[in-house]
Amino acid sequence: GVQSLVCMYLLFIFLLAVVTLMDSTTATAELGWTVYPWEEVSGYDENMNTIRTYQVCNVFDSNQNNWVRTKYIRRRGAQRIHVEMKFSVRDCSSIPNVPGSCKETFNLYYYESDSDTATRTSPPWMENPWIKVDTIAADESFSQVDLGGRVMKINTEVRSFGPVSKNGFYLAFQDYGGCMSLIAVRVFYRKCPRIITNGALFQETLSGAESTSLVAARGVCIPNAEEVDVPIKLYCNGDGEWMVPIGRCMCKAGNEAVENGTVCRACPSGFFKPTQGDESCMQCPINSRTTSEGAMNCICRNGYYRTDSDPLQMPCTTVPSAPQAVISSVNETSVMLEWLPPRDSGGREDVVYNIICKSCGGGRGGCTRCGDNVQFLPRQLGLTENRVYISDLLAHTQYTFEVQAVNGVSDQSPYSPQYSSVNITTNQAAPSTVSIMHQVSRTVDSITLSWSQPDQPNGVILDYELQYYEKDQSEYNSTTIRSQTNTAVIRGLKSGSIYVFQVRARTVAGFGRYSGKLYFQTMTEEEYNTSIQEKLPLIIGSAAAGLVFLIAVVVIVIVCNRRRGFDRGDSEYTDKLQHYTSGHMSPGMKIYIDPFTYEDPNEAVREFAKEIDISCVKIEQVIGAGEFGEVCSGNLKLPGKREMFVAIKTLKTGYTEKQRRDFLSEASIMGQFDHPNVIHLEGVVTKSSPVMIITEFMENGSLDTFLRQNDGQFTVIQLVGMLRGIASGMKYLADMNYVHRDLAARNILVNSNLVCKVSDFGLSRFLEDDTSDPTYTSALGGKIPIRWTAPEAIQYRKFTSASDVWSYGIVMWEVMSYGERPYWDMTNQDVINAIEQDYRLPPPMDCPSALHQLMLDCWQKDRNNRPKFSQIVNNLDKMIRNPNTLKAMTPLSSGVHLPLLDRSIPDFSTFSSVDEWLDAIKMGQYKENFANSNFSTFDVVSQMTMDDILRVGVTLAGHQKKILNSVQMMRAQMNQIQSVEV
Ligand code: AMP
Repeated sequence: GVQSLVCMYLLFIFLLAVVTLMDSTTATAELGWTVYPWEEVSGYDENMNTIRTYQVCNVFDSNQNNWVRTKYIRRRGAQRIHVEMKFSVRDCSSIPNVPGSCKETFNLYYYESDSDTATRTSPPWMENPWIKVDTIAADESFSQVDLGGRVMKINTEVRSFGPVSKNGFYLAFQDYGGCMSLIAVRVFYRKCPRIITNGALFQETLSGAESTSLVAARGVCIPNAEEVDVPIKLYCNGDGEWMVPIGRCMCKAGNEAVENGTVCRACPSGFFKPTQGDESCMQCPINSRTTSEGAMNCICRNGYYRTDSDPLQMPCTTVPSAPQAVISSVNETSVMLEWLPPRDSGGREDVVYNIICKSCGGGRGGCTRCGDNVQFLPRQLGLTENRVYISDLLAHTQYTFEVQAVNGVSDQSPYSPQYSSVNITTNQAAPSTVSIMHQVSRTVDSITLSWSQPDQPNGVILDYELQYYEKDQSEYNSTTIRSQTNTAVIRGLKSGSIYVFQVRARTVAGFGRYSGKLYFQTMTEEEYNTSIQEKLPLIIGSAAAGLVFLIAVVVIVIVCNRRRGFDRGDSEYTDKLQHYTSGHMSPGMKIYIDPFTYEDPNEAVREFAKEIDISCVKIEQVIGAGEFGEVCSGNLKLPGKREMFVAIKTLKTGYTEKQRRDFLSEASIMGQFDHPNVIHLEGVVTKSSPVMIITEFMENGSLDTFLRQNDGQFTVIQLVGMLRGIASGMKYLADMNYVHRDLAARNILVNSNLVCKVSDFGLSRFLEDDTSDPTYTSALGGKIPIRWTAPEAIQYRKFTSASDVWSYGIVMWEVMSYGERPYWDMTNQDVINAIEQDYRLPPPMDCPSALHQLMLDCWQKDRNNRPKFSQIVNNLDKMIRNPNTLKAMTPLSSGVHLPLLDRSIPDFSTFSSVDEWLDAIKMGQYKENFANSNFSTFDVVSQMTMDDILRVGVTLAGHQKKILNSVQMMRAQMNQIQSVEV
């Protein structure tokens, strides 16, 4: 602070200016000052110029009081006045016989006045009213009187006084007994001049009233300079000196300081200056140029680039040439590639290598990109060394590897990187290691395990070998069993004991390596007894029907759920086991694994979903609202793959750890599926925020909305085609042992080719705490979409592929009615009651009876009587091959099943006339049309066909449909009345 100010003060180069108010030496005639009683005479200054002087020398008379007063001097704004006096004084001792009163000093006075009003007698010749400035003594006196000036000693003294404030003033010199000559008097004030310093301009500034006072002046940056430190200030001191500089301006980028820092000049062409400052402009680096003067940077010439982090002083660079001399050495299903650096690095030192892997000769001649499971060591992209080890290739397969050289500017070049390629063929190899093994269920003496197929089967898997031993025993005592499928029941174990398990796969090439050791424990007797009690209600539930049992089930299920929470545990796996041991499975077939069986569900995400780097994802627009956040469309560009359109589900910020887990569980499930009618997972983004699930994009959105928007626009064959796709996707899921639980048109997505895909594998909407969506009604232990759900699933949560078949029947109805709401506006309780009483949805308008029959099959009360998805697919395929089977329409009021009463259509019997009935169905505008065509009684109206409705003059499709539905309902109601009467 203070110290640095002092330093700056000392360092600062002072600039000062003086303004003269009066100078006696410039007078050409008499000065005409008022004397009392000095004498004005002509004399010479030290340069022998003639000048007017005042003298006095009354040394022999005592009590001297001699004054001389200047003329009126205008102040001209000055606050502090300086007086420079030149004079000579005779040395008293050199005067013979001089009295003791002889003086060698005189006094200087001033008197302020707004105008020139002094006279011979006023102001009086005395201190007060005069103000004394000082007594002036000579530094040197002289002894010989010689006014010719030859030996005269001239003294120069300067005194100053202030503040002065009136318009002007007089000066007076008082002698009181000396012998002296006043040779010259100069009166002036000081000011600080206009200067440019520190990049700023300061205007002329008058000094302050005291010699110590400082007057602050603000500076303004010179053109093309900008402030670096504000305020920009200088102080003008009493001596007219600038001091204490504060703040400064510097030339802007593109300009340099010239002419001692007083001008900022634009850099000439071919030069640049990137930042504000004192530096000079620099010459453009190699391969760059400027386009105008005053450049802040130089732009690269065509074909040359700079990265964001390259300094502007660095030459522009280009892409590298191809790597040289790639050599390969194959070992079974792995290969080592080595190469030499490119001949031309493009002028950069950041050359790295990418490996593109293509597998060729897969029968069709062309090459395709390798799958994700091929391993690259140390990595596939951004290799800094000149070698890579590639493993987990398929056995007996031809591959082409392209080794690309890229550097920091490759992504700016419009051309793809230069590469060298090498072709190899892998050898025979054993299957890779089984990486995941799970306990499916256990008892006191058995454990059921399942495991995933090896990532690299390297051939057809013949079977698996499972080795196990009791943990406390030696490995040499292990037992080995074979399994045709990826599941096995290990029996004859001790209760409550821990066993060590390892599994390996076998192909014609032999065994793969054993998996890592996993430990599982059999149940203790105690645990077993508890588990039996828990299963009891489910067994009773499935066997029983009727109110009394229902109540019992309700009570027990409540108890169960209290104890077990959201159950996806043993009972489902028991079903799975039956399926597997029935022997229909082909060896090596994958089964679905519930991510919640993982101790850490994040592990499941890592296992089943590929992590995508956020830099590959470009979000474009919001297309919908999901359970956990916005759903967007966008683009995905994975390295080495073509850019694709994708849907992006995001997890809104502020989520809890549980929400994140639930959100990502959908990806862990979806990632296990690979079927053209099941939505395909591209991957997840979990390492940056927001967390995302990325799937293929389905242009036409969800099926229910899509159908409503295209009411009546498709042929029956097109609709059956969609249904066939959904059934095929469901067959795949059922084969994987996945139970969807929420199959509905809203959860089917449609792409631009009308391909329907099963989606929505989230679990959270079933959980009880979410009450926002009325589709999912709270049921015991979770929420259930009542209208779509099979009765046994509603009653005692028996969700199976057979309950999915029931839901599929509802989807068929939704599709054939172009997105009508199942059971219209009936309440959920009405729906449950109606189903219990064997009512089923009637055929939608124009629905072929074969399709309605298939729906009714799906809605069989006994789930064992419902068709399997494979049968549904076959059935639909037959219909598509023989479109004639789709010609027949369901005759009204026929069949075993009574049509369901549509609560949205009022009961005709409550009206006394057709007119009233038309009003009630909001079709009152057709009253006259009906009357004119003689449709005036319920009997006649109830027999109306579509042709009749047209003939009456109803031309709007929506109205035709409404009336036809109401007529059908009327007929159904009449039948019911009749059957009651019978
Ligand atoms: P969800 O959370 O899965 O119910 O998604 C909410 C909405 O986003 C859906 O109803 C669709 O309209 C839309 N959506 C979800 N996934 C996709 C997709 N893969 N392609 C197009 N739209 C989608």
